Amino acid sequence: MSFLDKWLKNKKSDEDLSRPILSKILETMRESVIVVGKDTRILSFNRAAYNAFARKNRALEDKRLSEVIRDLSLHEAFRKALEEEKSSDIELEIPSLENRKFDVHIAPIQLDKTKGAIGIFYDITQIERLETVRQEFLSNISHELRTPLTSILAFVETLEDGAIDDEKNNQHFLAVIRKNAQRMHRLINDILELSSIESGKIILEPKKANLFALVEEVFTNLSTKARDRKIKLTNQIPKDTFIFADVVRLEQMLTNLIDNAVKFNKEAGHVTIGHSQNGSKDVISVLDTGEGIPSEHLQRIFERFYRTDRARSREIGGTGLGLAIVKHLARLHGGEVSVTSTVGKGSVFSIELPQKN
Ligand code: ADP
Repeated sequence: MSFLDKWLKNKKSDEDLSRPILSKILETMRESVIVVGKDTRILSFNRAAYNAFARKNRALEDKRLSEVIRDLSLHEAFRKALEEEKSSDIELEIPSLENRKFDVHIAPIQLDKTKGAIGIFYDITQIERLETVRQEFLSNISHELRTPLTSILAFVETLEDGAIDDEKNNQHFLAVIRKNAQRMHRLINDILELSSIESGKIILEPKKANLFALVEEVFTNLSTKARDRKIKLTNQIPKDTFIFADVVRLEQMLTNLIDNAVKFNKEAGHVTIGHSQNGSKDVISVLDTGEGIPSEHLQRIFERFYRTDRARSREIGGTGLGLAIVKHLARLHGGEVSVTSTVGKGSVFSIELPQKN
């Protein structure tokens, strides 16, 4: 029985009836709460504190705070509360707990004749991680937009400075401006697309659809691009294969994967689309005979803006968001996307979709 429980048990008067309720509230709080006595030994704690700080499920009670959490500023804050009766707020990072971060409020507390100090630990690990992701995303977007914009401005200036009358080059300058403006357009479209998927604005309308026909349609849309690079597109899906998916979104996923398979292929290479079943899942595979992806990149390939060769991807018109969009759309279907690859031989991207029961 913890100190707080014992203390509450001794309370018999009516006015103390609210105290068990308080104790229950403490137990259900997500924040960790630790109360120490004058000697900094732990008198009480709630379940969240136990889950967060009890190493190997050992007891927290009667332990010195310094045995449970080793942090100088935390101890200084508790000392201030115990000796000077002053409250303080600190930020605490615990390397031994996977660098979890807490905002901690420490205050003096009086429990009958016992003086103590209470610490309330608010876990901000996830909030901080999200903030970092957000900042990185913003800085990536700014960087990605700045490059084509700088180029557009430079060529407009060149034209203004007289190149507009240079009949040999003015069309070329305009073409460069157009190419960069198109890149910005693609980028903004992809960013908007990704953000509407992530914010849950996209509602899927899954239905039974013929996979063979869908792949044929994507092939038709990408045929010019494939022809330019002499890439052979092969649809190996049996004609009577049906899957359960939102057709527009599945087409978008396949377009992104097949477009990559063409872009990152070698000249006159092959792209083959196949279908198999894995338990109760449909698996659609996009196989290419391209350059492959070195294993150190495979883990991160589905992250936004992650590219194995940034300059090259830009050159061939990539935004670095295609695979992130595929990943999100696959997950929205309750499925997943994965990749295997051999450098010099090619890659296989697979979309796994649950079948309708
Ligand atoms: P991008 O717009 O650059 O194609 P993606 O998100 O679609 O962005 O792909 C991210 C990166 O993954 C690419 O820049 C490329 O480095 C790598 N990649 C994607 N698909 C393939 C593939 N089929 N073969 C080799 N590398 C690929």
